[in-house]
Amino acid sequence: MVQTVENHKTINLLRKQDLQNNCHIPEMKNGQVCPVCGSRETSDIIEQVTKKPPIWFTMHQCNRCCCWYMASPPNQDAIKAYYAGDYYFFNRDIDFEFSRNHQLYKRTVRLIEDQVPVKRVLEIGCSKGFLLAILSKIGWQVEGVEISSEASSFARSTFNLPVFTGEIEKYEELYPALKYPLILALDVMEHVPDPFAFIKAISRLLTKDGLLIIDTPNGKSDAINSKRGLWKGFNPFHIHVFSKDGIQLLLSKNELTIHSIYEYSYDPFASERGNLELQIRSLFKIVLQKIGLFSPVYKYYKQMTLRKEPIKDPLLRIVNLIESERAFPPVFPSECLREHGDNMVVICKKE
Ligand SMILES: [Zn+2]
Repeated sequence: MVQTVENHKTINLLRKQDLQNNCHIPEMKNGQVCPVCGSRETSDIIEQVTKKPPIWFTMHQCNRCCCWYMASPPNQDAIKAYYAGDYYFFNRDIDFEFSRNHQLYKRTVRLIEDQVPVKRVLEIGCSKGFLLAILSKIGWQVEGVEISSEASSFARSTFNLPVFTGEIEKYEELYPALKYPLILALDVMEHVPDPFAFIKAISRLLTKDGLLIIDTPNGKSDAINSKRGLWKGFNPFHIHVFSKDGIQLLLSKNELTIHSIYEYSYDPFASERGNLELQIRSLFKIVLQKIGLFSPVYKYYKQMTLRKEPIKDPLLRIVNLIESERAFPPVFPSECLREHGDNMVVICKKE
């Protein structure tokens, strides 16, 4: 069913009365349009409220390009405040972050690194610099851009990485002559307020035939239908959740084309040890879900994993792992590949 923004206003007001929480409720803007294609009509609306931070947010799905966009997104000051000191993402365990960034490397850079003429990379939203530290250790010339002063300062002081504090648009404005054969935007595009300006700045910083890798939640994920506002892709930090069509539209307006694309979902029980073990784990997961015990068992599993002793040098461990993998051709992470998965990886080329 197609609902206009005006129709939605009534729904929003009704929900406000129902809500007992003392949270921030943004006001709807009249005549909000899809920031990707300009359509004024929505095909779906999802509302969600979070406790930490206490924010009410409403996501609209564009009826034309199927991207989701936040009604009344936060302003620039509010965005900076989101990523200040206690942003959960920056306070994760170091062992966990290195392992997570090893997975990021495998499903993105590993797939294309042989196609990049010079091993030089710029990562946008590089956080505390875990992936850049790994890439630097395996021979890449690395640079980063990060909006959080705390995270970028950590990357500079801990890993001695050249990281610019601020937005990519500002970086491109200050250093228009810089060109990169590879730019990474992993788990970042959904956070930016102006996706068109973001892609435009990236396009200007790419060499001819340069590659851009985007890893972002998938606005056409199957999980949206079952989990609605509880789907992890919808949270107050994600201003847009894109569809493939929407990304393609943004790229085509900025001299970029899609080189390859795939979708995937995280699976807490996924393993790389073989199909039989995976099948047993999947079966175990389905049984637990049927009897309603999946959440408590998963929480226990995570606690047990975290109780392990910290790894002495997690960076060296990951780098050694990568060196041992180098003997094998790059593979897609088939165990989590799926159509309409929670996330998508879009590899793009500058024309
Ligand atoms: Zn649209």
